[in-house]
Amino acid sequence: MLQAKVLVLGGGLAACAAAITLAQSDVEVAVVHLPASSGVELPESLMPAALPLLAHLGIDIEKVNQQFPRLTSRLSKWGRAPIRHDDMRPRFDAPILLGKAKFQSLLMTRLRTLGCTVREIDRIDSAIEVANSVRVTARSSDGTGLLEFAGEAAIDATGRASALAHSLGVRRRIFDSLVSFWIFGETGGVLNQATVTATVHDGWIFCAGSGDGRAAIGFFTAGAHLASKPNAMAIVERASAILELGEIIEAFPGWAESKVITRNAATTLLNVAGGLRWLACGDSLQTIDPLASRGNFTALRQGILAAECAKGALRDDHSLMASYAWAARREFVETLRHRQGYYGLVV
Ligand SMILES: Cc1cc2nc3c(=O)[nH]c(=O)nc-3n(C[C@H](O)[C@H](O)[C@H](O)COP(=O)(O)OP(=O)(O)OC[C@H]3O[C@@H](n4cnc5c(N)ncnc54)[C@H](O)[C@@H]3O)c2cc1C
Repeated sequence: MLQAKVLVLGGGLAACAAAITLAQSDVEVAVVHLPASSGVELPESLMPAALPLLAHLGIDIEKVNQQFPRLTSRLSKWGRAPIRHDDMRPRFDAPILLGKAKFQSLLMTRLRTLGCTVREIDRIDSAIEVANSVRVTARSSDGTGLLEFAGEAAIDATGRASALAHSLGVRRRIFDSLVSFWIFGETGGVLNQATVTATVHDGWIFCAGSGDGRAAIGFFTAGAHLASKPNAMAIVERASAILELGEIIEAFPGWAESKVITRNAATTLLNVAGGLRWLACGDSLQTIDPLASRGNFTALRQGILAAECAKGALRDDHSLMASYAWAARREFVETLRHRQGYYGLVV
């Protein structure tokens, strides 16, 4: 059995932030995660407010600025509101455009530099919370059989899977059926550092450049009202109604032949944020709709906070966990209320 003071389950932004924070405080930590997905990567952004958090995690901010470009232009049109154009050059408060895998490997490198134990698994079989520890049984990723892990505290940072929470019998509340469908194509570099968001008759279109002369267009809608998965042509038709995208789609044919990638985007919240010896953070705790572009920042921030709570739990001080859970719920409710201001504009 692999034993550590704190077990961190997951290998994304929340898990890395939690594990780095613990390791920086000399707390023995083991990170247990599934292998990185080899699926298609979508363009994602990171709020600039994350930079102080990254510095706190010992990440070289110069490196981040060199490796990841900033958003320079943002076009948005919510409901019947007129189109809004934010030109962000040369603002330092412009969001950072991520290659997610590249960004995650920056954090993983920092984790390894700190000497953290990192184990890849295939899946979690079971978990129990006993008097003073959390025990997890998992399947190894190389097929060699069962692995056992134990920590005096555990952090669930397994994203939408909420693998530890679910193994402990905790469920998620689902607030909507938002789902996104993505197509990919050429732009000739026009949208390299820009995003376009616009309301269409049955949802939202979001487009972001991937920095290499290509872009991804996502169609967000309520899955509950969908009869079937839209094909690329159906997404092209909706995107073409937006002037700025219509021109690009017309100039660079091929969008309608793109493969359509589906990504769950539902807004959800775990029924409880944790127990005496464990807690959830990032997407494992709550998922916020991607159009808000806050999930990555929230994952980093909550990962750091979760690590502080786990340190408290090691001293049998559970007050931090209680205020963490309360603050996370309050923030989530506030986000739901705020988004009505946008989505309420839908015609
Ligand atoms: C379509 C889409 C677009 C988005 N765009 C943006 C954006 O532009 N800006 C933004 O800020 N946010 C965006 N988000 C949200 C953002 O991607 C997430 O909020 C963020 O990645 C959450 O990080 P995380 O570490 O909590 O979870 P994840 O990134 O999901 O990481 C979970 C980790 O846990 C591992 N794992 C899963 N199951 C197990 C298991 N059973 N055992 C062990 N490990 C496990 C996974 O392999 C992974 O390493 C978007 C989301 C979607 C769906």
